Amino acid sequence: MNDAIRNLLRQLPSMDELLALPWVPEMEERLGRDAVKGTFSEVVGEWRQAFREGTREALDRESLTEEARARLETRSRRSLRRVLNGTGVVVHTNLGRSLLPPQAVEAVREVALGYSTLEYSLEEGKRGHRNDHVEWLLCQATGAEKALVANNNAAAVLLGLAGLAAGREVIVSRGELVEIGGSFRIPEILSFAGAKMVEVGTTNRTRVEDYAGAVTDQTALLLKVHPSNYRIEGFHQVPAREELAALARERELTFMEDLGSGLLAPPNHPGLEGEPTVRQCLHAGVDLVTFSGDKLLGGPQIGALVGRHALVDRLKRHPLMRAFRVDKMTLAAFEAILRMELRGEGGQIPTSRMLHLEEGELKARASRLAARCRRVLKARNEESWVGVVPVEDAVGGGAFPATPLPGYAVALRLPRIGSAGRIQERFRLGEPPVVLGAEDDLACLHLRTLQREEESLFLKALERVLEGRGR
Ligand SMILES: *Cc1c(COP(=O)(O)O)cnc(C)c1O
Repeated sequence: MNDAIRNLLRQLPSMDELLALPWVPEMEERLGRDAVKGTFSEVVGEWRQAFREGTREALDRESLTEEARARLETRSRRSLRRVLNGTGVVVHTNLGRSLLPPQAVEAVREVALGYSTLEYSLEEGKRGHRNDHVEWLLCQATGAEKALVANNNAAAVLLGLAGLAAGREVIVSRGELVEIGGSFRIPEILSFAGAKMVEVGTTNRTRVEDYAGAVTDQTALLLKVHPSNYRIEGFHQVPAREELAALARERELTFMEDLGSGLLAPPNHPGLEGEPTVRQCLHAGVDLVTFSGDKLLGGPQIGALVGRHALVDRLKRHPLMRAFRVDKMTLAAFEAILRMELRGEGGQIPTSRMLHLEEGELKARASRLAARCRRVLKARNEESWVGVVPVEDAVGGGAFPATPLPGYAVALRLPRIGSAGRIQERFRLGEPPVVLGAEDDLACLHLRTLQREEESLFLKALERVLEGRGR
């Protein structure tokens, strides 16, 4: 180490100096003294390293303390927070997929604040099963004989395959060996479940004869997977569920389907038809169907397995079930969602409501909000352009990828801030944070995914962005 570096290291502020900064007491109150000290050590350590490596050649005390302050500021804010979704993507996985209706939130609140019947039967005064809170409701909603829930659909699929096909062969079409959202890949799930994958057919066409020709005495299961997030257009063929069900019966195999989104009722929306409901799949002869609770169903993150008595009972006893079991708050929310479906109130669930919003209503809301934005901008003499533009919204969650939903957005041009990308950034870092879309270098707030009561919050966010204030 040369003298210059040694000299720089000596100049680094001591912990006592840093702890004497005027803003430290407030940070200590929010985070505790240890966290504040730890963050200072971290930042000083980084400067020390930079001096040693020669990436910094002078000490700037102000930027060092500012770095520490900014880091502590971030750490003292709640991390998982509400954002306004202005993207028009209804089932937005990164933004939390579904908004729960008040009935579900109330149910969560009740079991979160008090003890509950999670695994207790009041009738018998002894241990009950957490699955019992939703099993009958799921059977009612789908026509299944039995039902089971796991943490999410990925867990449901893994549980189904591990429980019914470990050590044996699973036949699946080459057109359905899909990847869903990063790490969920059908071939890998099969291998992880300990099953041997037997691919049949081609990417675009698979016939029932292909499945029949691949059955051996080692085959346990025929697997059908919803291709969710992609579409094959043109020369394309898959066998009907009824054909596969007949083959499975004849050869004494299990027919399992990963349905992905899990529609309980057909969506009465042009462009969204053609998707089978869970009930239709079971009716066509699928033995076990798995689906997500937080995609089109609009509930909490959960995975459902519904189907034949003997299969579901076997899976209930599988050791993986202990690892995949569902938390009480999730169960409370899911039970509330299923009860809404049962009462025919499924249309009030936010996901369903947003999917069914009409273009005319979205346009009217966009016009009203645009007028309110213009008033805010005018009051500040801000150079700007605010318009109402038609946009394409999306179902999201890997459902209906080829079905854009026609929507409307409030489009913003704010020359003082800059490009659409710059405007998006300022809103993301604002209060409340807003995630905007962009089109033709205009930042766009899609009305479909902005809740009515959030419109005033958006105007607050706009004011803060104009003031150049972050959080
Ligand atoms: C979304 C999806 C999954 C994963 O479900 P999660 O609930 O996100 O775990 C699995 N399979 C299909 C076909 C899907 O669409």
